[in-house]
Amino acid sequence: MSKQFDVVVIGGGPGGYIGAIRAAQLGFNVACIDEWKNDKGGPAPGGTCTNVGCIPSKALLQSSEHYEHAAKHFGEHGISLDNLQMDVAKMVARKNGVVKQNNDGILYLFKKNKVSFFHGRGSFAKAVDGGYEITVAGAANETLTAKQVIIATGSNPRALPGLAFDEEKVLSNDGALRIGAVPGKLGVIGSGVIGLEMGSVWRRLGSEVTVLEAMPAFLMAADEGVAKEAQKVFTKQGLKFEFGVKISSVDTAAETAGNGVVVNYTDAKGGEQKLAVDKLIVSIGRTANTIGLNPEAVGLKLDERGAIVVDDECRTNLPGIWAVGDVVRGPMLAHKAEEEGVAVAERIAGQHGHVDLALVPYVIYTSPEIAWVGRTEQQLKADGVAYKAGQFPFLANGRARALGDTTGFVKFLADAKTDEILGVHIIGPSASELVAEACVAMAFKASAEDIARICHAHPSLSESTKEAALAVDKRTLNF
Ligand SMILES: Cc1cc2nc3c(=O)[nH]c(=O)nc-3n(C[C@H](O)[C@H](O)[C@H](O)COP(=O)(O)OP(=O)(O)OC[C@H]3O[C@@H](n4cnc5c(N)ncnc54)[C@H](O)[C@@H]3O)c2cc1C
Repeated sequence: MSKQFDVVVIGGGPGGYIGAIRAAQLGFNVACIDEWKNDKGGPAPGGTCTNVGCIPSKALLQSSEHYEHAAKHFGEHGISLDNLQMDVAKMVARKNGVVKQNNDGILYLFKKNKVSFFHGRGSFAKAVDGGYEITVAGAANETLTAKQVIIATGSNPRALPGLAFDEEKVLSNDGALRIGAVPGKLGVIGSGVIGLEMGSVWRRLGSEVTVLEAMPAFLMAADEGVAKEAQKVFTKQGLKFEFGVKISSVDTAAETAGNGVVVNYTDAKGGEQKLAVDKLIVSIGRTANTIGLNPEAVGLKLDERGAIVVDDECRTNLPGIWAVGDVVRGPMLAHKAEEEGVAVAERIAGQHGHVDLALVPYVIYTSPEIAWVGRTEQQLKADGVAYKAGQFPFLANGRARALGDTTGFVKFLADAKTDEILGVHIIGPSASELVAEACVAMAFKASAEDIARICHAHPSLSESTKEAALAVDKRTLNF
């Protein structure tokens, strides 16, 4: 006997679980199916974000940053420590504990909001009168039917052609979050967000980290000024970068690579090179995941990269079927998935859910942090937009000096005529938090002068935001 729901959500990551909860809050009878298992085989909702993404990576970044502060910066505050030790197993256990708290929190929220949770894989069986039949296989074996289906099945790490992840020597994000002891030498292929965050964790703990990047320059999605500053700072911290490389082969055979991995590659000048490391993280992007969903059973349209085709409102080609998050176009970010989940639930309820992909903030949680929203200087140039720029360094910010963290700056880009803010780019302490002010301002179509005229607390890092806004019209007060 099939169980009937108003809305079935397939996937319990940030897109799915937030969408399911919002739909339940709007009065629908909702089921959420998620197949992620914890180490004991039990349910672990929260998807990539909670289990092997945002949350565990931030836990390790925090632990490793504490260690680096204790090792390198406590002395400046008059704090001395003898015999500083890093217990990697304890750090990883703490990270696992943080993940579990989040898994349990989601299960609690499902109960509180009366979302029926099914632990297993959801697959389309067929279209039925006025809806769809979905089978659940796993701990729960059920058949569900619903008029409205939200697909939020996320993404998987992209492997190098011919090099499967063994999670021992060749690591995806999953393995990179489970390394049991600090590797002497760590290779990272790909200098995107995940490569930089994971590379930073293990560098802080003592690894010699080399990052190989196929693109000719660093962080090409970021504003050029920020990317330049970031490369300078990360290099000073000890990360080694090579750009414009082409990987020829990766050798993991015990006879030739020993306990490690040898990466054979061509450098930017065409020279044949070898990099021998103990472990290799491959972070070259992610691909939309529809494994097991059985989209063919209902005729769901995918694009040539395997992502589900949706319109601006997350509608698929089939009536009543929606898709959100990493499995569709747009940035692969948890907060983008969440926003889409909420918007779809509201649209199902006849409301006007709205997501502006142009105002999704990007953050890299390295030290210094990097965050931005809106267009970069190079995008504005390419778009032929006349703009003004204002920049203010944290070096001239009293709070940053007191914190002992004066790296970086805030940069504002505003329309030359109307002064409307077009982009805000931050590299420096708490950039992830500071960028929120820019998101609010841009959502309300504020001008740089609006920010410049708002009273900001002193001393605070946000004064650099105000100063950068003032600098757009060359009026810095220079606190
Ligand atoms: C190392 C790392 C760090 C990251 N850090 C950040 C960050 O700091 N900030 C940020 O915004 N983003 C970050 N991301 C990206 C973020 O994790 C993703 O954008 C986000 O998880 C996407 O959410 P989602 O709901 O679309 O999919 P997912 O989180 O991938 O969830 C999909 C869920 O669906 C389940 N599923 C799939 N198919 C089925 C099926 N057929 N039946 C049942 N269940 C199924 C999966 O098991 C999974 O639980 C990070 C990613 C990684 C890898």
